[in-house]
Amino acid sequence: MQLRYSFRLYPNGPQRSALARAFGCARVAYNDGLRAREEARAAGLPFVPSGVLSKALTEAKRTEARSWLGEVSAVVLQQSLRDLDTAYRNLFDGLKGKRPRMGAPRFKSRKDTRQAIRFTANARWKITPGGDLTLPKIGDVRVKWSRVLPSVPSTVTVVKDAAGRYFASFVVETDPAADLARMPESDTMVGIDLGLTHFAVLSDGRRIDSPRFLRRAEKKLKRAQRALSRKAKGGKNREKARRKVARNHARVADARREFHHQLSTELIRENQAIAVEDLAVKGLARTRLAKSVHDAGWSAFVTMLEYKAAKYGRTLIRIGRFEPTSQVCSHCGVKDGPKPLNVRVWQCQACGWWLDRDINAAVNIAKAAGLAVSACRARVRPVRVPARREEAGTHRDGQTTVVGIPAP
Ligand SMILES: [Zn+2]
Repeated sequence: MQLRYSFRLYPNGPQRSALARAFGCARVAYNDGLRAREEARAAGLPFVPSGVLSKALTEAKRTEARSWLGEVSAVVLQQSLRDLDTAYRNLFDGLKGKRPRMGAPRFKSRKDTRQAIRFTANARWKITPGGDLTLPKIGDVRVKWSRVLPSVPSTVTVVKDAAGRYFASFVVETDPAADLARMPESDTMVGIDLGLTHFAVLSDGRRIDSPRFLRRAEKKLKRAQRALSRKAKGGKNREKARRKVARNHARVADARREFHHQLSTELIRENQAIAVEDLAVKGLARTRLAKSVHDAGWSAFVTMLEYKAAKYGRTLIRIGRFEPTSQVCSHCGVKDGPKPLNVRVWQCQACGWWLDRDINAAVNIAKAAGLAVSACRARVRPVRVPARREEAGTHRDGQTTVVGIPAP
């Protein structure tokens, strides 16, 4: 299995200039190739093959207008053309129906928020004994090795993000047997409801919120975004505010990724099988509600669960919401109709079980996926007993909001 490892880079002044040149040259190589192909297409000529583009690139270096392309590693330029080939292959495969449809490749701009170059093994990049990353025609760049690389990668991609930070990104082949050995089999199963009031609710009754550091970072980002929208266009202050938003944005993205990693690893370690709702279906069911702040995070989180399940030999099941989960009692299976959103707890009319909206949904998801999750663990008892409790099983007055955590 292939995994991506990223590490923060700290290039010095001259190295930053050299990297800026390399990003620029890679962009020009890409755009020249794209232009050649698009012009051929407009003229009704056949698709320009990679070999021809590669030769044209070598010749361009000898011209005065493009001589500066020689200042960067030739491998970087060749890899840029490889990227162009990949973009076209994705486009053609999409048209043939082999994969989701993609737009045509687009010209790269200096203003793109993400800049990247790639060095392969024959570029002779290396990691020095002192832990620096040696990049041809750039120098020895300082790296913060935040984790251990499981094996020696052959390729490194150097990225500059919107916040102006640099990263070295490696794709590493991991050993499947070693991965499986790290997580012994478990006999626990769980259903997860990705909710509005909490990030996730588990069928065993646990409610998980995003951590405080993430919420704090999100708040900060919102404030910076508001400040940015107030600044006049084109001004110096606007540029400053834009950078601040980009920095905060990067911080939120990092914090969120970290939270998703921790939670997904924990869930995969604890459970042999995990059931989640299909998010596309979930999204449709929600159109009337305010878009949750979690939305962006969910699909990234489920993707993590998916690859970690594959890596550690667990089962991940996605279910479509064939039945609104709040309408069915997770204990006896009787469908007793919709309940308004403010009803968080109700008593099943058929079996008398007290049900919590979120946990009931998580148990139903697990059951729909065929997992043997016991409903009794999701049983809840209201802490504050509402005045007119005996009147109805479903409370429309919203009084029963405080709920005790499952006590089987
Ligand atoms: Zn029931």
